[in-house]
Formats: sequence, structure tokens, C-alpha cells
Amino acid sequence: MSREVKTKGFRVSPGAKVRLDDVDPADTSQFDGSKSDGLEGVRALIKRLDPLQELLYAEHKHSVLVVLQAMDTGGKDGTIRRVFEGVNPQGVKVTRFGVPTPEESGHDFLWRVHSHAPEKGEMAIFNRSHYESVLVERVHGLVPKEVWRPRYGEINDFERELTEEGTTIVKFYLHISKKEQVKRLQDRLDDPTKHWKFSMFDVRERKFWDQYMKAYEDALERTSTPWAPWYVVPSNHPWFRDLVISTILVKMLEDLKMHYPKLDKAKMDLGQ
Ligand code: ATP
Ligand code: MG
Repeated sequence: MSREVKTKGFRVSPGAKVRLDDVDPADTSQFDGSKSDGLEGVRALIKRLDPLQELLYAEHKHSVLVVLQAMDTGGKDGTIRRVFEGVNPQGVKVTRFGVPTPEESGHDFLWRVHSHAPEKGEMAIFNRSHYESVLVERVHGLVPKEVWRPRYGEINDFERELTEEGTTIVKFYLHISKKEQVKRLQDRLDDPTKHWKFSMFDVRERKFWDQYMKAYEDALERTSTPWAPWYVVPSNHPWFRDLVISTILVKMLEDLKMHYPKLDKAKMDLGQ
């Protein structure tokens, strides 16, 4: 039995039409195994991520940017906690993007994002991102269409510039169903250790589900580029989500063909 999950089908081809209704958020069919096989697979992949991240840090040539977007309760926090649990925290930087501060809103929408892009040797994870500027800002009309419409092109240019400077970008949309969301909201209400996560704001946002889906579809269609691809990850089952994401990350890092820097031994003198 193959323990590899097939991830190719989750990648959004540049220019392809995206219909989120056609993607089953509970799908696990690309993995030929049970949940416990999947969890075992995640554990094995997490073990492989650690030395790859050390190599990224040691070589100091590339950097990696992981963008995570999802509806509320979609599992961004869980993904970060699980997939990156084995890597050295010194080499990973997580940034959350919430409601912009007055200073941030006073600048162009990429201003607050750029300084959090990863340095060489570093892996940056965006928990929400510059994409909020074509999602929440569009859905709630926080800026007019003339402002959000050109942002897709501006995002593509920005991401291309980062990749030309040595950053590898990968973007994940964690796809959950509306039904799964209400289940997760209910869990937050029922479990006292999760009360802190519950927000009436999330319940109100639910009413805009369809508008969000439309905004996500447009974002996925217009900004999945050869240099910064989007993956739509079926995420109703957290084990499957983690399996897909860790598989993609391991492959992406292996494809960088990194090497430990070599010492010129002839120049080394320990002075003894
Ligand atoms: P959880 O999934 O656990 O609810 P979260 O990512 O929603 O976590 P919060 O601190 O609850 O974290 O919410 C951040 C909020 O900031 C989101 O509602 C998001 O839509 C909002 N936000 C992010 N960027 C922007 C933006 N550019 N303009 C307006 N709102 C934004
Ligand atoms: Mg929230």
C-alpha cells in the first residue's frame, strides 16, 4: 500500500477556473490509507522537515514563504502547531495579520507585509496575509472596487520580486465546509479550554460565506502563478490537511537541492 498522498490535483494551475463548490472539503481519496496511517505519515514527514530546515538555515541562500489562508476556524493555527512542531524555532518566523492598525492603513496594502518576508535561510509563515486585502476588504467594501481590483496584479508582481530575490513561495487555502465551521464554533463554545477562541465576530462573518467563497475563487484564479502557486487543501480532516501540507513542504525543500557550506580546510588553523 502506498503511503504517499497525491498532491498534484490540489495545485491551482495558472489561469484555471476555480469552483470551490466542486472541491469536497472532506476528501481524503488521494491517500490510500487510514487516518492512523495518515497520522504516521505526518510524523515521518515532520521528522524530514527538521534537517531540511537546518540546511536552509546553514546554506543561507534561499528563503521560504508559506502563506496560510482560511475561513474562521479553518485550521491555520492547528496547521502551524502540528506541521512545524519539529523544526528549530530560531529559523521560523510566524506573523499574524489582523485588522490593520491606523499606521498600517495609512500605507499601501503591501507595506505591512513586506518587512515580514523571510530573510535568507529563514522560513516565514503568514497566518493570514496580504490576501486579506482582496478578501475581507472586498467582501465588506472596506475599499472600493477601483482599489481592490488592481491588487491581484500588484500581488503577483510583489511575489515575483520576492522569488527573483531567492524566496520560494507556497500558498495554502485550507478548505472547510460551512457545516464543519459550525461544528468547530460549537466545539469552542462547549469546551472551556477553547472559550478564548470563540468570537461572535466569527459568527457574524459566517453570514458572508458565499461572498467569501467568490472572493477566494477570484484570488485563487488570479494569483496562482508559476512562481507562487496556490493549493486548495481539503481541510475538514486535520490529519489529511497536515499530510498534504507537510508532503508539499518536504518536496519543495528537497527540490531546492541545498548543500551544507564547505569549509576550506587548508585555511583552518586551530592554533595548537
Ligand atoms: P481564528 O481562525 O482562530 O479565528 P483569526 O486568524 O481569525 O483566528 P483573529 O485575530 O480572530 O484571528 O482575526 C483577525 C481578523 O483580522 C480577521 O477577521 C481578518 O479578517 C482581519 N483582517 C486581516 N487583515 C485585514 C485587513 N487588511 N483589513 C481588515 N481586516 C483584516
Ligand atoms: Mg477569527
